[in-house]
Order: sequence, then structure tokens, then C-alpha cells
Amino acid sequence: MTTLAITGGQVLRPDLTVTAADVLVDQDAGEIREIGPDLADDADETLEAANSLVMPGFVNGHCHVAMTLLRGYADDKPLEAWLQEDIWPAEGELTADDVHAGAQLGLLELIKSGTTAVADMYFHVPEVADAVETAGIRARLGHGIVTVGKDDEVAREDANTSLEIAREYDGAADGRISTAFKPHSLTTVGSEYLEEFVPKAREAGVPIHYHANETENEVAPIVEEHGQRPLEYAADRGMLEPEDFIAHGVHVDDREIELLAEAGTGVIHCPASNMKLGSGMAPVQRMLDAGVTVGLGTDGAASNNDLSMLDEARDAAMLGKLAADDASAVSAEATVDMVTRGSADAIGLASGRLEAGAPADLAVIDLEAPHLTPRHDLVSHLAYAATAADVRHTVCDGQVLMRDREVLTLEEAAVRERALEAATSLVERVDT
Ligand SMILES: [Zn+2]
Repeated sequence: MTTLAITGGQVLRPDLTVTAADVLVDQDAGEIREIGPDLADDADETLEAANSLVMPGFVNGHCHVAMTLLRGYADDKPLEAWLQEDIWPAEGELTADDVHAGAQLGLLELIKSGTTAVADMYFHVPEVADAVETAGIRARLGHGIVTVGKDDEVAREDANTSLEIAREYDGAADGRISTAFKPHSLTTVGSEYLEEFVPKAREAGVPIHYHANETENEVAPIVEEHGQRPLEYAADRGMLEPEDFIAHGVHVDDREIELLAEAGTGVIHCPASNMKLGSGMAPVQRMLDAGVTVGLGTDGAASNNDLSMLDEARDAAMLGKLAADDASAVSAEATVDMVTRGSADAIGLASGRLEAGAPADLAVIDLEAPHLTPRHDLVSHLAYAATAADVRHTVCDGQVLMRDREVLTLEEAAVRERALEAATSLVERVDT
């Protein structure tokens, strides 16, 4: 057995208490073997964690990593105008090579901010999978289907691609890659395609992930056309199962919250994207009170505009209080739980907790910073004060991906330069 010891740190336990301990990792199994005192002696490799907090790696439950190429390209517009006027025309010009460059940049940013798993919806998924394999993180990947505005043959081909990608890549990269069937949303995919392909996704044994109830404009057409709230409509089409997860869930009513809780379907809350696009405030505390599994996601970098889950945690806590009109809502504890275990549970991963037998996916946060002094409550610091730049080491599946801020699996300068070139060329093509 090859072992890695993370030594001398404060360890965040699943019950959100913090104790001084070492963490011993079985690198062959990719699992935590033991947490306790003095475990460093015989380890093959060590990571120094003095004056640091050792915690589960962040889990980004909803992202489009390659959209880093469009960071800062189009801001300050509502969702529909932003998609139709700026994002979709630019995405229409993206090549497979562009998506690979953008995905590498996004994964670099995720590793540098302590994220060890991501659920990603995009196209050119083989390129995203290749970037994930090299970067070393864990990912649930899928091809996003859009059928509106397409003739039947092209629409069916898109749905088939999502199904085939889900089948082919499930278990890739030694099991670090899992997949899902990913219709873009309930309004951008026609009901006839959902009725045909959702049963096929069930047969393939993959979960279903889609954007739902993001804006009022997404709710109204479904109510008008089908006489049902969007999540009732989804449930009737077999898209609300325990393994499924939706992104956003901003405009959900009491009945829909009840449906989510009964079904065990996860919700990935994306507070920064919801605020930036003016989409609204998700009733996060009400969903938590009802027993819904809630995790956090950044959404794409074009609507955030970064991929830091520490930023997302702070945004979730702040926005959750505003939404509930209650300062005690979405507490620091609830927020830290959502950004780790909640996201992992929602997207169907066993990570998000540090305990013997759990996946060795963890982040080490450097506490020697003015904004993290004093240290009354480290859970509070994670929710409200820590930033991506405080992440010192990142470990996924037992492998060290970043040591003392140096990413070991990707050449940072080369990844940035390639993405810069791809993004510059993309914008030139769109503008001509
Ligand atoms: Zn999204």
C-alpha cells in the first residue's frame, strides 16, 4: 500500500467539529485509511498542514467548465437576452479544441480553489473528459441537449449523443468520471424527446440532470402549455428520481419543494449566477427544512464570473438570509455542509466527508492570513471569510493535485496562454 499523510492540521469532521489530527490516505485505493494522532511516521508521501484546516474537497454540483473562455464576454443582462444575444452565438463558434482549452482552464481554477469534484454539462464532452483525466479531479459529465429550433432529425441526434456519451464515459479515468443524461432544461427540450429518451437513460442506469425553475420565464410556458408546475411536469416524465439532480430551483412553490423532498431529487443552488442574471432568490432554508438535499454550484464562469466554491458558499449564506428575511437562515454550518456533503450527495458521489473509508478528496486551507485571524470558529471562516487563494493543497482520489499552490497535473502558464489564444480567436470569429 502506498500512503500519503496530511500532518499537523486541524481536521473538519463530518459533524462539523474540528480536531487536531493527521489524515492517512491509502493512495492505491484512493481512500482515507485513518484519522488520528501521529500517523505520519511510515507514510510514503507527506503534506504539511500546520496552521491549516484539512477539510473535504469542495464539490461543484453544477458547472460548464469550458465557459471560462467566455468569462467577462457578456455581463449585465437577464438570462434569455444573455443566452440569445451573446452566449449561444459565441458557443456556435466553439471548436472541440476550444472546449478542451476552456475545460483545462476551468479545471485549473477548480483545483486552485480546492474543488475536487464537478458536475459538468456541455458539448464536445470527449474533450472535457480528456481534460478531466489529465487534471486528476472527479467529474460527473454529460452532453447538454437542446431541441428547440431544430428539426426532428437534428434534435434526435442531439438526444442520442447525450445518451451515448453517458453510456460510453461512465466509469472512465479509473472510475473518476461518471456521467448523466443531461437535457438542457424543461423549456429548451421538447416533451416528445423527454418521453422517448428518459426511459432509455433509466435503462442505461445513469442519473438525469437539467436546469429547472431558474427564472419566472421558464415556469410560465410550462404552466400555460401543460397546466402543471415545472417539477410536476418533470415528475410525470420520470425525471424526479433519487439519483437525479436539478440546477437552480429558484422559483419553486410549496408543492414542488414537497415533491423534491419526497422524491429525494437533489437541488444544486447557484446563488452567484442567480444574482448576476437577476433570476431571483431560491428558498434554500425552506428546502432544507423540508428535507431536500441541497448542494452548491458555480454554474458557468460567464455568469459568475469565477469558479471558487468558497465564494459560492458565502453568496449562498448571504442570499439565503435575504430570501428568508431572517439572519439565522442558511447558517455557516448549513452552508459548509451544502458545499461539501450536500453537493456530493446530490450528484451521487461518496465524497464530501473526511472519515475512514471515504474517498480521499480533500483541500487544505492555510489559516495564516489577516482575514482568518482570530480563529473563534473555523466553520464560520469557511462560510464567510476564506477565499480561493487560501487553499494550500488539493488532493483527489488519494493523489496530490496541488502542493503549496503549485498545480502538479497541469502546466499553469501553458494552460492560461492556450485559453487566452482560444478565447481571443473565438471572439474575433463571432464579431466578424
Ligand atoms: Zn447552468
